Amino acid sequence: MSGHITRFAPSPTGWLHLGHAYAAIFAAKMANGGRFLVRLEDIDATRARPEYEAGIFEDLAWLGLTWEQPVIRQSEHVEVYRAGLAELERLGLLYPCFCTRKDIQMEISQAGNAPHGPDGPLYPGTCRTRSAAERQDRIQRGEAYALRLDVARAMSLVGKELRWEDRAHGQFIATPGIFGDVVLARKDTPASYHLAVVLDDARQGVTLVTRGVDLLPATHLHRLLIELLNLPMPAWEHHRLIHDEQGRRLAKRDDAKSLRTLRDQGWSPEQIEQSLERV
Ligand code: GLU
Repeated sequence: MSGHITRFAPSPTGWLHLGHAYAAIFAAKMANGGRFLVRLEDIDATRARPEYEAGIFEDLAWLGLTWEQPVIRQSEHVEVYRAGLAELERLGLLYPCFCTRKDIQMEISQAGNAPHGPDGPLYPGTCRTRSAAERQDRIQRGEAYALRLDVARAMSLVGKELRWEDRAHGQFIATPGIFGDVVLARKDTPASYHLAVVLDDARQGVTLVTRGVDLLPATHLHRLLIELLNLPMPAWEHHRLIHDEQGRRLAKRDDAKSLRTLRDQGWSPEQIEQSLERV
């Protein structure tokens, strides 16, 4: 096979902005004669909206990109995530966590200097040691819970260093513990970003994962999930982020930089590409 299988995986929770344009064009280029896929990360049903989904296709087509059909929507493949969770459960690596956000905050503030990871303070592990009887009892009483990965146990099950490589940033030894015991599923969300992304990339045969460098730390955890679930390992390339004039990272709330606004203001796709070279 020549080229790579790459993907652009936006969440339909807002309008695409210049940062997305950069990520999509980057992924399409890196396919380099292979296959370029678009995947809709719409698993958060409370935030995904059909007009944003339509907007994504419109913007990508306007940029001159073409992608393979059919487009995969995460919300249509919940069974894949269930199977992944079942496997981790079988390995004894998941535990139900009944803590609310408030419980966690309180515990952390009481602990004083709680360790922090890339996404903020780490979960203090309150529910990790609950007895099987208590877990069962609380679940039976209908208490809401999330499923967390026992990362230390997972690492000891793997029993060796996990290496991975980024084409731009070099070799790494995976340190998934930086996230603490991450949530992999919730009652109303069948899979967190981390679980869904590794299962989807594997299922779609993605050979080169490209995304912003803000997600480079997440790859430490993805490397562990790939090992535990026995999935093929892709190559990674984390690219730079696009900032506004004040040096802030673009976010979905910056409507002024959305592709549709720029288009309405008369920008051409070529001007977008040129501006991405400068910022
Ligand atoms: N939905 C994620 C995002 O928009 C995709 C990240 C990835 O490509 O893995 O940031």
